[in-house]
Amino acid sequence: MFRKRNLQITQRILRGLSGFLEFVPTQCILCRRTTYAPVSLCAGCVAELPVPLHPCAICGEEIPGTLYSIFCSRCLTQPPPFALCRSALLYQPPVNRLITSFKFSARFEIGKALSYLLCKQFIAHYNELDAGFPNALVPVPLHNKRLQQRGFNQALEICKVLAGHSRIKLQCDLLFRCRHTAPQSKATSLAARRKNLHSAFRVAASRTDTHSRNAQTTTIPEHIALVDDVVTTGSTVAEAAMMLRRAGVQQVDVWCLARANR
Ligand SMILES: [Zn+2]
Ligand SMILES: [Zn+2]
Repeated sequence: MFRKRNLQITQRILRGLSGFLEFVPTQCILCRRTTYAPVSLCAGCVAELPVPLHPCAICGEEIPGTLYSIFCSRCLTQPPPFALCRSALLYQPPVNRLITSFKFSARFEIGKALSYLLCKQFIAHYNELDAGFPNALVPVPLHNKRLQQRGFNQALEICKVLAGHSRIKLQCDLLFRCRHTAPQSKATSLAARRKNLHSAFRVAASRTDTHSRNAQTTTIPEHIALVDDVVTTGSTVAEAAMMLRRAGVQQVDVWCLARANR
């Protein structure tokens, strides 16, 4: 059953990726040289980007030291509500600069290039593990106030690239930000970050409210890929994943462009 579904999804993905065969030359966003790569990043610059080396198999945080272990001590004692967290890159120069330009200067070509790197890893992960692709892609939502300030949700832009190449459904009517929280980067301690996020997310009701004139049914997928641009402590995605799990989602996998140090 799972194998048949995976084969169907793989076929859909190959059809999606076939669009990459018609490359047009662009300028690399880092070295400015002309590149025929599928996105605006040349192979040489991609090879030099900082990538996770020994990520924890659950939370994805780099495991320090030379002794290699699969899980970090935190996940062994208190596993997070998500099944895994994977990032394409580390939030170090020049990745931090690129993501800042994408988010705060609306440089969408940068967002697309980094999302493409994530997309390759995303597809390889589910193909290699035969783990079953997620049923839906869910962007970590922004509160309306911040959405109006920025004009776009960077997580949604990443999801669009993933959805375009994996053909997995993009679901934006499930998770909402119901409180305008201070930026997580300004909440320094872990306790402050948790307090800042308390009740920040809401999941759409899964049943039809027959008393409402605008009655709607939101499907609760079994397996979700929750997508954000940067994960630092993991408290934001943990809070969102917890709300999704409470609403009936069986598995939440977190995918982000870059992982930052705590
Ligand atoms: Zn380059
Ligand atoms: Zn961990």
